Amino acid sequence: MKPFDYERANDPEAAVTAVADRPGARFLAGGTNLVDHLKLGVAAPDLLVDIGRLELAEIEDLDDGGLRIGAMVRNSDLAADPRVRRGYPMLSRALLSGASGQLRNAATTGGNLLQRTRCVYFQDTTTPCNKREPGSGCSAIGGYTRYHAILGASEDCIATHPSDMAVALAALDATVVVLGAEGRKRIPVDELHRLPGSEPHRDTVLEHADLITAVELPAPVGSERSTYRKIRDRASYAFALVSVAAVLDLDSRGPAPTIAAARIALGGVAHAPWRARRAEEVLTGAPATREVFRRAAAAELEQARPVRGNEFKVPMAQGALVTVLSELAGLPPEQHDDPHPEGPAASEGADHE
Ligand SMILES: Cc1cc2nc3c(=O)[nH]c(=O)nc-3n(C[C@H](O)[C@H](O)[C@H](O)COP(=O)(O)OP(=O)(O)OC[C@H]3O[C@@H](n4cnc5c(N)ncnc54)[C@H](O)[C@@H]3O)c2cc1C
Ligand code: SF4
Repeated sequence: MKPFDYERANDPEAAVTAVADRPGARFLAGGTNLVDHLKLGVAAPDLLVDIGRLELAEIEDLDDGGLRIGAMVRNSDLAADPRVRRGYPMLSRALLSGASGQLRNAATTGGNLLQRTRCVYFQDTTTPCNKREPGSGCSAIGGYTRYHAILGASEDCIATHPSDMAVALAALDATVVVLGAEGRKRIPVDELHRLPGSEPHRDTVLEHADLITAVELPAPVGSERSTYRKIRDRASYAFALVSVAAVLDLDSRGPAPTIAAARIALGGVAHAPWRARRAEEVLTGAPATREVFRRAAAAELEQARPVRGNEFKVPMAQGALVTVLSELAGLPPEQHDDPHPEGPAASEGADHE
């Protein structure tokens, strides 16, 4: 491991200044991702600015009925908060479906959003990887692709973003609050992560010294139903092959319920949480039937471009979307709705440890 300097920041402004002054500096939050990367040689900062003591660990009520989640709020505290469990149960489920109890006790809201891909080649410094070393090539293309992207990938990178929480936040229309060298800015979660294009080394739109200080959630809508479903190779301690975060607002005033609004994000399928706008368009104003849900899922997955070894994700994502929407609409289950009945485990995010 390359030697590095270490500083503890006392306030957010000082943290930003310390990182802005050194191109090789990085923020250190819970360390559950970054410290692994130091040991693996994937990251080699010359300064770590520890933000662990910043007063950013509160969850506060907003005047408009929403919530502000400090960047240092631990994943376990966020999942257990009564306001989150009551108003945003999908977010609790997504958090509890990630990592393990011990990791969630250390992992933070900001760090979770900015964790890096779990592509095996990215983490193996003996292999070419455009994300780790721009211009070196992509070992995943033509290699092991089970956890890789089917949507929005490029010829330079087919990695996926690993965070469960980010997928739920994208469907909740959350906003990231950032303090940078030029001042404060607000970024919709949906616009935080980039698709890889020709610059896969850039995961997000953030600048070098940008510090996430909070994530804000809009007020929950009482009539909405939501859930998070994660399909993975084991029931615990595994990243998503495919996940679905969905919010449905049903209008039940007529003889048959119609969909007043739908917000959907997919995980495990792209370099960013994938907001399923095409599916949302099909759903909005349509009757809440399985036939409509199938059409919506087909419209979204029509743009999928799987590579050899991850073709299975296309029907898996379609099936998961139809199953989740059917459940939210209260339709009776259909046997073939299950996207992978005897294969990978699907869960609502319960902690099975
Ligand atoms: C074995 C294992 C299994 C896991 N399984 C899952 C899973 O199933 N689902 C899932 O979602 N996650 C999973 N994780 C990932 C885990 O959730 C992340 O490692 C964790 O959320 C990162 O948070 P952290 O606070 O430890 O970040 P750190 O490791 O401290 O930082 C991560 C990155 O974010 C930057 N950073 C941190 N905070 C800020 C901030 N406020 N502003 C700007 N930059 C910041 C750091 O500089 C660094 O680049 C797993 C991890 C492990 C080790
Ligand atoms: S998919 Fe992306 S992260 Fe993985 S080897 Fe290719 S360039 Fe690297």
